[in-house]
Amino acid sequence: MKTFKFCPSCKSDNVCFDGIKEFKCNACSFIFFHNVAAAAAAMLEYDGKILFIRREREPRKGKLDLPGGFIDPNESAEEGLNRELQEELGITLDTMKYIGSAQNTYEYKGVTYNTCDLLFYSKIETLPTQFDKSEIASIELIDPHEVDKDEFAFKSTQKGIELLIRSKIA
Ligand SMILES: [Zn+2]
Repeated sequence: MKTFKFCPSCKSDNVCFDGIKEFKCNACSFIFFHNVAAAAAAMLEYDGKILFIRREREPRKGKLDLPGGFIDPNESAEEGLNRELQEELGITLDTMKYIGSAQNTYEYKGVTYNTCDLLFYSKIETLPTQFDKSEIASIELIDPHEVDKDEFAFKSTQKGIELLIRSKIA
């Protein structure tokens, strides 16, 4: 995986990464924590099925995913999720139920991000009429009990569906 070759503060190459999260410069004691990033995903139920999106972009292009994304600085999980839902599907949720969280890794341009995915559930009464075609190839409604987990882009989706079924909501 890509990491820093030089200290971003003093340009020394006497730097080390602990392999987990701490990047340190031995020359000037600069420290950078590659902390877990928070992300939020929505399990939207329509007519007994869950709305999945098929990814139009790398990583895992062509695989099934839940709508959502990274939470920005200064956002709550709910605010970040509604922003992503608005960008991706043109919808906003009035209420959402927190189901649980799942660890995940997200590789982007050679960098591995460790994420904590916060999983929410909501029923929707109408289907989105539009979606962001730069990110989404298609929208698919699938029975959560029958969805093929090998099609999932990320393992946190599987955990989310398992939590959802266990909570007996869907
Ligand atoms: Zn330094």
